[in-house]
Amino acid sequence: MTQMETVARLSDAISRYDEAFETRCQDASPPAPMTHALNMSLNDLRQWFLERDQPAYRAQQLSRWVFGQRLREWHQMTDFPTRLREEVAEHLSLWTTEIARHQHAADGTEKHLLQLSDGRSVESVLLRDGVRRTICISTQVGCAMGCVFCASGIGGVERNLTTGEIVEQTLRLQHLLPPDERLSHVVVMGMGEPLANLTALLAALAWVSDQHGLGISPRRVTISTVGIPAAIDKLCDLKSRFHLAVSLHAPHDKLRDQLVPINRQIGLDAVMQAAARYFEVSGRRLTFEYVLLAGVNDHDEHARQLARLLRGHTALLNVIPYNPVAGLPYDTPSLEAQRRFCGILTGGGVNVQVRERKGDRIDAACGQLRRQAQAVLPSIAPRPTVSDAPSGTSAS
Ligand code: SAH
Repeated sequence: MTQMETVARLSDAISRYDEAFETRCQDASPPAPMTHALNMSLNDLRQWFLERDQPAYRAQQLSRWVFGQRLREWHQMTDFPTRLREEVAEHLSLWTTEIARHQHAADGTEKHLLQLSDGRSVESVLLRDGVRRTICISTQVGCAMGCVFCASGIGGVERNLTTGEIVEQTLRLQHLLPPDERLSHVVVMGMGEPLANLTALLAALAWVSDQHGLGISPRRVTISTVGIPAAIDKLCDLKSRFHLAVSLHAPHDKLRDQLVPINRQIGLDAVMQAAARYFEVSGRRLTFEYVLLAGVNDHDEHARQLARLLRGHTALLNVIPYNPVAGLPYDTPSLEAQRRFCGILTGGGVNVQVRERKGDRIDAACGQLRRQAQAVLPSIAPRPTVSDAPSGTSAS
């Protein structure tokens, strides 16, 4: 072999080696990102299986595992062929949160601080009340509404939760129940303003109420909102059957503008009119919420004004004695003051209920545990608190 031939062969071998190397590099390209299975609707899942030449019913099978069998990892789906299980595990994620803290109260209330995949955190609560198993879930990290007495909004809003992250909260709480117990009620009263994250919320509630999901009737799901008329109208258009709770906290704009700063852009009239439209369309009795702050919104005059405001509405007024938040300058009214306030309202023909204390000593009012964990105020000791989830507000 001449020297020229040797060089040619060598260079040929080198280029073949380069090609092989390039192919190997392509093979080693990063895997496609995982999709959260619960960011998909049941129909999306059906489509996903059809695209893989699988029957559409696999979607129901999968959801039965997730919601009915309380599955922890995809490999437990024993009625799926092994190869299909592997494919699901390769492409779909289910658990993107981690339980950063888990607290129990003597009354059976349990609370999760969930760490999201980006390191942020949200809270969710399980309440036990007779046969009821109510969960309180979050829709945003933080909140932009600015209510001056609320722990959740102190640092503003960081981001909306995804549908999958909202549904994961429900599943993680469901897993705390013994196998023969089911979740019965959902209140969307955790961190954030639910109607500011409406699309993700509605997709999550579709899983909550679907018979292939948690199977909880919309009548047993309460969305608590500061009152965003455009979003309430959207719920009307969609013929939503969820129970709506509107946070008032003041009987007129002057005071509401101070306590609920977003009110300056909305106004109480618009909130009340939107609530009335929702009642007309859904037929669901409205709930109004009123956090009672000593010396701020608990005067006799406030009660009389509130009775006038609620006249003509088929509604329940939920009075919530302020749950102290470390560092905020408000006080809980005495029992005597609470009774007096409610007495005037009842006398004015309003259907009133005082929200019961739950979850004492575990900072069950959403936003408080996260603040503690972030050690925003490390010098302030945790305080006994009142739950922000109702015992009687949500639907039957
Ligand atoms: N953004 C929604 C959900 C908030 S949490 C809303 O405004 O309705 C549910 C209820 O708890 C609201 O009425 C809220 O104003 C109330 N809340 C917030 N902080 C509270 C506190 N420290 N004490 C008592 N109730 C509180």
